Amino acid sequence: MPSLRSIPLGLYLHLPFCAYRCHYCSYSFETDWSPALMTRTLNAVVAEAEALRASGEADGLSWQVCTLYIGGGTPSVVPPRLLASFLHRLERALGFQTANLPEATLEANPENVTAEAVKAWAAAGLNRLSLGVQTFDTQRLALLGRQCDGPTNHQALTLIRDLWKGRWNADLLTGLPGPPGGTPQRWIDLRDDLKALLDYEPGHISLYSLTLEDGTELTQLTEPVADQLWLRARQTLIDAGYEWYEISNFARPGHRSVHNQGYGRLDPWAGLGPGAEGTLPRRNAQGHLRPWRTRNPRLFPWLNGQRQGEWVSAPEFALEHYLTGWRTSDGVVPGRLALLFGKTLKKECDFLDSGSRLALNRFLTQLEGLEGAEFQRDWPVERE
Ligand code: SF4
Repeated sequence: MPSLRSIPLGLYLHLPFCAYRCHYCSYSFETDWSPALMTRTLNAVVAEAEALRASGEADGLSWQVCTLYIGGGTPSVVPPRLLASFLHRLERALGFQTANLPEATLEANPENVTAEAVKAWAAAGLNRLSLGVQTFDTQRLALLGRQCDGPTNHQALTLIRDLWKGRWNADLLTGLPGPPGGTPQRWIDLRDDLKALLDYEPGHISLYSLTLEDGTELTQLTEPVADQLWLRARQTLIDAGYEWYEISNFARPGHRSVHNQGYGRLDPWAGLGPGAEGTLPRRNAQGHLRPWRTRNPRLFPWLNGQRQGEWVSAPEFALEHYLTGWRTSDGVVPGRLALLFGKTLKKECDFLDSGSRLALNRFLTQLEGLEGAEFQRDWPVERE
């Protein structure tokens, strides 16, 4: 076999199982599942990984997994021993070692964090946890449909602080509703949440402003008030030494998420599992490497073998790069667009580093003019 070109890859796994349905969640997940369905799903993810390796080889490519992110759903509901054996099979399918990756993240819910689970996750080679704390307020957790309470969140954080040697993130929500006719979250409530979380010294915090569907009976904040809450929380984190590096993400030095930053740079990533999305290089009919977008359907169609994929056009890819760049403190990297489009877009890119609204408008106008424009060269898949 001719030698394969090595392609650095972020690997995202979507494990779609939750123990319950949170009222605010729009992710793809199932709550009605059996151990047999879970095993069948994990087997299908391994088969999808094997197919990914084979399709890469058919294009003369060898995937070099650089980061792993296991999301969902609630992947921490997978029993740790089953998760470890699943990861082992995945490693064989794609030729990597979880323990050797600079970043291998597992999303976890606080009620699944036990001393045994923490040790088993570390033994499986995972080195980063992302914990869905949301708030320490038991009443508001119940309003959100979460089946953990404030003490459970504290217990999980204590275990992570005391037993977990890797890096970790905590998700926190702002703009929480109150009961029907009651009081929504106030700044003093959010300030208490922030203080409680900061006492555990997480390296990374994701701060999301909650949006609920219209029609809920819960008492919600108006949008401007919710925005003010989020902004005060942002300033609190900055004052506490966190860098605001992505629209909802804050990190202490050295704790940015390597995997998530790859999305911002449009580095190739594979999404395996139901509901997962990925963007990978494939060879087109002329033999050039172009971005191919995969979009998996929900669990049951996916288990029945349904898969979707399409080429991403040059202007669409440029727009994605620009919009994701705007979400980060690093901004857009005009040189990266110029690599894609050569001189055609280079002059249009030169002004982008100002990051202004004017630049965005100008860029969008240029993109309209680029309709039908082609990539000037292969997708530059090397990581910087
Ligand atoms: S546990 Fe997470 S994925 Fe599952 S319903 Fe709640 S927020 Fe959504």
